[in-house]
Amino acid sequence: MIQLIRGFKDILPGETELWQHIEKIAKEIFETFGFQEIRLPVLERSELFARSIGADTDIVEKEMYTFPDRKGDLLTMRPEATASVVRAYIQHKLYANDSVRKFYTIGPMFRRERPQKGRYRQFYQINAEVFGIASPLIDAQLIFMLSTIFSKLGVADIATHINSLGCPVCRPDFKKALLTLLASISDKLCSDCLRRHKKNPLRVLDCKVPSCKDAISEAPAIIDYLCPECKDHFNTIKATLDTLAIPYLVDKNLVRGLDYYTRTTFEMQTGSLGAQSAVAGGGRYDGLVKALGGPDHPATGFAIGLDRLAEIISAESNDLSRKPEIFIAPLGNQSKTKALEWACLLGLEGIRTELNLTDRSLKSQMKRANKLGATHVIIAGDNELEQGSVIMRNMLTKEQVPIPVQGLVANIKQILK
Ligand code: AMP
Repeated sequence: MIQLIRGFKDILPGETELWQHIEKIAKEIFETFGFQEIRLPVLERSELFARSIGADTDIVEKEMYTFPDRKGDLLTMRPEATASVVRAYIQHKLYANDSVRKFYTIGPMFRRERPQKGRYRQFYQINAEVFGIASPLIDAQLIFMLSTIFSKLGVADIATHINSLGCPVCRPDFKKALLTLLASISDKLCSDCLRRHKKNPLRVLDCKVPSCKDAISEAPAIIDYLCPECKDHFNTIKATLDTLAIPYLVDKNLVRGLDYYTRTTFEMQTGSLGAQSAVAGGGRYDGLVKALGGPDHPATGFAIGLDRLAEIISAESNDLSRKPEIFIAPLGNQSKTKALEWACLLGLEGIRTELNLTDRSLKSQMKRANKLGATHVIIAGDNELEQGSVIMRNMLTKEQVPIPVQGLVANIKQILK
């Protein structure tokens, strides 16, 4: 038997209802806030990710599914969506008619990480990206939207961590201070950090290896090194979150695993997922559009991990299954044909209908109707049909009433009202 690839998973009926529900809530929020959907390919040129995410990141160094296609072009299954959204923004000049654009996209991402609960090699993200606004107010609004999505979904155990990564003006001073610390603790760093820390010292702050985490607890805080503009930017976000009544924690080590962030970074973390505590993350990436060959436009955004979000919500167990309103139990060949016609017509009216088409006794059909949670059952024997009526049973009250075959669909609609 051929099995799933390790780290990949099927999302089965029973789970998909929750995924659809999450997507629906997110889309409603996005559309209310003026975001438009963008759909992008899962395959891109590898160069796009190396240039945006950064060559010395875990994602690019170790996790991408990269392969030459049959002509030898180096392609990568996208590990995240922002780089592709930026590529599309530049390629189609999406800024041409309006200097402010807001997009959302939902889809699979691929990273060859070590699989564990909450960490998969194909996982899904809901992304939101805003182009053309440098103001910190929009960063605060993005955090507000995220927080609204979580509260609408009834997720309570969630904390918002925020930080600022400064800008090309102030980050070098911080890097210098960090390098001094790293030199003094180099015997405690993991081999990745040792190899990378000179080129990209911020990555050490993001390392998940416990000994590195301990060693950098004394690291300087980047927010103590911010230039006046970055400080103002960060203070405005904090003040706006206060006004919007969004609680947050300033987390000095929150640098996130991608190189393109400038100034704002944020992450929503939960205690209910074990080691994989980040459910969503984002930040500002003002230099990325230009770095990828586009105009110098500021940008900011976030990604929600759909798999992790679904796991938290299902842990709080919600019944979102859609039960049939009508179960038709035909008894006899003639009634089966008639029943199919009714099922189709009821379906057209938007009434959830399940029809039994196998040869089963009435008792066994009733059992199945019960199991599916149908609210009403239509019992249609050939004899009853000949007499021009069928029986409708209310599964809750057990009450049974005859209803005429003539105008059956309209009658049922009336009863269900
Ligand atoms: P990132 O693109 O790394 O900032 O991740 C954004 C969000 O995607 C995280 O907060 C997670 O919820 C989710 N995520 C990232 N990597 C994985 C993974 N391998 N499996 C499941 N979810 C993931």
